[in-house]
Amino acid sequence: MSDCVFCRIVAGEIPCTKVYEDDLCLAFMDIGPLADGHTLLIPKKHYEFLYEMPPEEVAHLAGHLPAMAKAVQEAMGAEGLNVLQNNGRVSGQAVPHVHFHFIPRARGDGLGYRWPAKEADFDVLKEQAEAIRAKLDVEW
Ligand code: AMP
Ligand code: ZN
Repeated sequence: MSDCVFCRIVAGEIPCTKVYEDDLCLAFMDIGPLADGHTLLIPKKHYEFLYEMPPEEVAHLAGHLPAMAKAVQEAMGAEGLNVLQNNGRVSGQAVPHVHFHFIPRARGDGLGYRWPAKEADFDVLKEQAEAIRAKLDVEW
């Protein structure tokens, strides 16, 4: 995708501050960091949404999550870390190429955490679980 900024980074048309690279994925520093050490991990192949990716390619990417999370957190001397992956504009996705954020966290860093939990109704949860299960292409 020639108009995708991350594809252009993969192609070497736009510079990036590289952290890690192999045949299938690339990690680099976020150019608009939410915190020091904010790093991104992307598949080299263009997919807009996580669910478009073949499971084997997700598995490859996911295989790097623990080491990346540990390295980013320890290198920044952070107390914690958010690993974030947005799908769709409504979720906050600005770049339409799958990416995982690694965002180091510290007490009082001002980033906050909005999680306005609702009270669950178990009948509704059951209906929702059934609806999701019906969409899952797996044997039970
Ligand atoms: P999202 O909102 O989840 O789509 O996040 C996109 C992220 O990509 C943002 O945090 C941007 O700062 C980052 N970003 C956009 N363009 C570049 C670039 N050329 N190099 C590095 N990071 C970028
Ligand atoms: Zn792309």
